Amino acid sequence: MRETDTGDGHPSAGSESTAIRDPQEILHSVFGYSTFRPPQGEVIDTLMAGEDALVLMPTGGGKSLCYQVPALALPGTAVVVSPLIALMQDQVAALREAGVAAAFLNSSQNPGESRAIGRQLLAGELDLLYMAPERLLMDGMLDRLAQIQVSLFAIDEAHCVSQWGHDFRPEYIRLEILHRRFPHVPRIALTATADETTRQEIRRRLGLDQARCFISSFDRPNIRYRIDQSGSNSRERLLRFIRDEHPGESGIVYCLSRKKVDAMADWLAGRGLTALPYHAGLTGEQRQAHQERFLNEEGVIVVATIAFGMGIDKPNVRFVAHLNLPKSIEAYYQETGRAGRDGLPADAWMLYGLQDVITLRQMMENSEAEEQYKRIERHKLDAMLGLCEMTDCRRQALLGYFGEKLTEPCGNCDNCLTPPQTWDATTPARKALSCVHRTGQRFGVNYLVDVLSGKDDDRIKRFGHDRVSTFGIGRELNGSQWRGLFRQLIARGLLAVDTNGHGGLHLVERSRPVLQGREKLWLRKESPAATRTRKSPRFAGTVSGKDAVLWEALRELRRQLSERQGIPPYTVFHDATLMEMMEKRPQTLGEMGDISGVGSHKLEKYGDVFLSLLARHNESFNQ
Ligand code: ADP
Ligand code: ZN
Repeated sequence: MRETDTGDGHPSAGSESTAIRDPQEILHSVFGYSTFRPPQGEVIDTLMAGEDALVLMPTGGGKSLCYQVPALALPGTAVVVSPLIALMQDQVAALREAGVAAAFLNSSQNPGESRAIGRQLLAGELDLLYMAPERLLMDGMLDRLAQIQVSLFAIDEAHCVSQWGHDFRPEYIRLEILHRRFPHVPRIALTATADETTRQEIRRRLGLDQARCFISSFDRPNIRYRIDQSGSNSRERLLRFIRDEHPGESGIVYCLSRKKVDAMADWLAGRGLTALPYHAGLTGEQRQAHQERFLNEEGVIVVATIAFGMGIDKPNVRFVAHLNLPKSIEAYYQETGRAGRDGLPADAWMLYGLQDVITLRQMMENSEAEEQYKRIERHKLDAMLGLCEMTDCRRQALLGYFGEKLTEPCGNCDNCLTPPQTWDATTPARKALSCVHRTGQRFGVNYLVDVLSGKDDDRIKRFGHDRVSTFGIGRELNGSQWRGLFRQLIARGLLAVDTNGHGGLHLVERSRPVLQGREKLWLRKESPAATRTRKSPRFAGTVSGKDAVLWEALRELRRQLSERQGIPPYTVFHDATLMEMMEKRPQTLGEMGDISGVGSHKLEKYGDVFLSLLARHNESFNQ
């Protein structure tokens, strides 16, 4: 690592030197890690050889090192394009903690600060400079870069060039100019978005046709997927899940509407949890404040609409809970992917119900979009519903959707852990479809269930539906079982929802074989108590007894150190690093330096305080 101080601007060895350093040595001394994860090593070799790279890796896969290591190994300054201020700040803070000469340029700085960084840049004192695409493309920035040695360009969150994605940023398209202005500077584009269309678009729009492409598995083995049907007690189940499995840990709870976000955050806070709302209806300051608390404190839960997420680099989000159905598998994968970036066990926990299916189907049908677009959306929702209702390994299906094959069931999703039972629903399904038909294909689920149950009801009498053949033929199931059956029929596309907003159901072509008894229907058995959210504390739970005391002490020390410096705790050390300290109990600086995540700069800065804490703990425990 170069002896460059970005704080006071003292020029030193800096980037003027032309020596190329060994990536492996940088990995060890700067980042404190022992080996590259595939394909990091190869990506780094590609850039070091002056070639371009396109890297598709899941969240938490380790994309940053792919450009940070060559940025330190090669002479000159690496320019990193990043779409969000929060992301830049986080990365730069983490790099500085590791003793790296890194800085960012963005609108959060005053002109004086920006000028100081501009001077450092020209003096060749920076190893990495982060900025938003707007900044890179304005005010003669490219001319300035032409005067210095640029080691590489890294384009992070490269899927922002895609107009079809949800994170489209028009300025990203203009980044194509880098290729023409700096033909000899290697470029690397990185994203966690897996699909082929986006990949092609990145290549085309950024002029990366020649780039070597590195695609990792998109599996996130440490995330446990769990999906269950919701009911009247969803809130309580969420609370129980958090209390039993993630006490004192941070997580994200996604809800569909602002109103529901506010209500849920209030309710959880009233139960003694630190829960903060986040949605587009709050002021910018409120959102900022809540996001900062989430990043800087331990154990904060953010209850949010999907507006919350991108730019959240926090590695120790231990759970993502959905209280509504995402509208596609892509969205589900991306949202759940915010859990467990650090590779430690994390939960993706979801409850969804009949109303979700109806609401999403209606929203889609009523949208102003073109028919072709709607068809795609419909198809995506169907795939998502399929994932919810399936009885086999969810991870196999999830990865299969992205074109990746997992040969064995994963053993870490609800269906693998507690295989759901199925039942022959052919006869009840025929009754349900027939009831839709007999009542004129315009009533909603509750009415249909009342007819099937033979309810004594004025409205039913007024319509004369107490005289249809399906009146009262469904007494073998109770109301909630019937609603579950209707949900599964709608989810499977065997019944369609009207677009007028009243939730009326009608038959479709695919209903026919089931209605006529030519097709059998096996469905997932719903367990009404549905405590498939078994108590299985895995992370918090593994730290017990004396370890729990030490664990809290380590976290507390980390918190104090980070608070003093105004940086998030995880920039001091990740949870995994603290865990390893707890396991290995290093007693010397040498042993401390062998802990994964302890580079030489952090060893110097924090080694002693953590060693003495461990020593104190050993003593008090041995007494
Ligand atoms: P991404 O940007 O792909 O989401 P990050 O770059 O944030 O992922 O890395 C995820 C986590 O993995 C970080 O905690 C990072 O420090 C860690 N990590 C990355 N590469 C390695 C490695 N070679 N050895 C150990 N830990 C690594
Ligand atoms: Zn599985």
